Amino acid sequence: MIRLILVLALTLFAPSQTSQQYGISYRLAMPHPASHLFEVTVEVTVPANDPSTFIDFQMPKWQPGRYSVADFAANVQEFSAQWQNRALTWTKIDDQTWRVQRQGNRSVTATYKVFGDDLSGTYAQLDVGHANFTGGEIFMYVAGHKPDPVELHIEPPSSWRVVNGRTERPDQHDWKYPNYEVMIDNPTEIGPNWTEDNFKVDGKTYRVVIHSRGDEGARRAAFVRDVEKLVRAETAMWGRPEFDGYTFLFHFAADDRSSDGMEHLLSTQIIEPGILADRGTYDDALRTAAHEFFHAWNVKRLRPVELGPWDWTKLAATRGLWIGEGFTQYYGVEMYHRAGFEDSAGFLQNISETIAAIENSPANKLMSAEASSMAAPFIDAALHRQRTNLPNTSLSYYLKGELIALNLDLLIRGWTNGQRGLDDVMRRAYDEFYVKSANASYYLKGRGYTIDDFARVTSEIAGRDMNDWFAKYVRGVEPLPYDEALAGVGLRLVKSAASQPYTAGIVIDQQDRQSLRLGPLRTDSAAERGGLQQGDVLLSIGGTSVGRENWLTTLNRYKQEDRIPVTVRRFRQTRELTIQLGPPDIYDYRIEEIRNAPAGIKALREAWLRGN
Ligand SMILES: [Zn+2]
Ligand SMILES: [Zn+2]
Repeated sequence: MIRLILVLALTLFAPSQTSQQYGISYRLAMPHPASHLFEVTVEVTVPANDPSTFIDFQMPKWQPGRYSVADFAANVQEFSAQWQNRALTWTKIDDQTWRVQRQGNRSVTATYKVFGDDLSGTYAQLDVGHANFTGGEIFMYVAGHKPDPVELHIEPPSSWRVVNGRTERPDQHDWKYPNYEVMIDNPTEIGPNWTEDNFKVDGKTYRVVIHSRGDEGARRAAFVRDVEKLVRAETAMWGRPEFDGYTFLFHFAADDRSSDGMEHLLSTQIIEPGILADRGTYDDALRTAAHEFFHAWNVKRLRPVELGPWDWTKLAATRGLWIGEGFTQYYGVEMYHRAGFEDSAGFLQNISETIAAIENSPANKLMSAEASSMAAPFIDAALHRQRTNLPNTSLSYYLKGELIALNLDLLIRGWTNGQRGLDDVMRRAYDEFYVKSANASYYLKGRGYTIDDFARVTSEIAGRDMNDWFAKYVRGVEPLPYDEALAGVGLRLVKSAASQPYTAGIVIDQQDRQSLRLGPLRTDSAAERGGLQQGDVLLSIGGTSVGRENWLTTLNRYKQEDRIPVTVRRFRQTRELTIQLGPPDIYDYRIEEIRNAPAGIKALREAWLRGN
């Protein structure tokens, strides 16, 4: 019996067991842009002796770089399957899988449409102005055959041009990829209006592709020159990159809504809600570019072990995003400074604000950097159907990771008298895990690192065992050792009462435009202790009627320990409550120079601020 069941099982699940490659080619068309419908055809050719009786076409649940469930299958419609124009039987076997019976045929063609009207770097958009997609939201993979090479043919509307990070010539409509994962890591822009500018650094070609839906204010040439400064700053740290070219794909969406920055192997896609003519938008695009280009090394190549290849039927639990995203956040700020866009005072101010964001967060005592990384599926652009306590319990692995990077960088500089710093940790890790390690999978060169691997490399560079440090500050929630780290370069952290008004822990629900409704309150705050709860509508404070404009000023007429009557509307009744104001729960943080620091220490500070 056991043997019989095994044979049956092997036949039933043949697609995931077989090692023979299938021929897989995709065709993407978009004949009616106003419909927002992409039309996809997938042709699969199966080897003659393949034992499978069916082919499973599967839509991924998410795609790399954004860690929450996206459920791309929700936008699939009009699926069908054929062999030479004869319909084949298919069934939907779960929320992401279409199973097509081969009925003895060696080639099967699946066709479907995908609705897309989000310019987001995660979801696709097709409208009368352009088509933009990343890949996973459009293309189904063949279950069990993700490692197989794939081909893609794109048919744009007439006069629309196609560009992505793997475009090698004008009018290119066909691409070959070594596997599905690489295909969906290649954001593509198709439209009549985008522009392309090029520059070279160290013999490598960089492209700046821009689709502006609003006024550029004649700033494009200056913007491209500024992107080049970032490329020079970052390649100065990492060394000459292994890739031949890299594409910055920008959207200035002018819709006050679309916003994103996403890293890819040979490109980044950056979406701004504003227009290039706006100084703020211009600067924000540059800051984002500083971050995303750093990812070409950190996260895309030097990567946590969980990041590729992926199982697209469930979310990945990734431990190292405080490195992958957090260290990139630190270097994004650093590189913006090193490239000359921000002076040292602005740079230190920027870091101080990050310290304030983390140190003022109630979650800082609850969630470690590693736990934050593991919680990415719940906090990275995730939608919540239930109320959660995440505003109080979850910490950003971007910001906490940025501060871990800051502390490590300064500590290592201090301990080694400026001989080494975090740059050395990053370069050595890149070299060891990406460049020199044997390939761990079909997906990409080298292997991913574990947190223990990263701790070891950090110890080697720092010249001391860093395992305890990682236990305290990465896996634990101990306050970061700012004093020691900053003192090593002649700086100190100054904490003071917040310049912002006291909120008593009250958070206003920004979704409710009509009334002063409360959102999730700050945990263990005066408001919570006084019995206020989420959903209450705040009517008066101390007898004064309050609205959006005056509630904070009204509250701030009172001082610590005062007991104040408050009225709220709850369940269609008015209730009287009393809150007793507590000490401030928010502080300002400022980094300042230690004036009498020895000359040697000051020299370390200058070296850090110069980026060497
Ligand atoms: Zn576009
Ligand atoms: Zn990032």
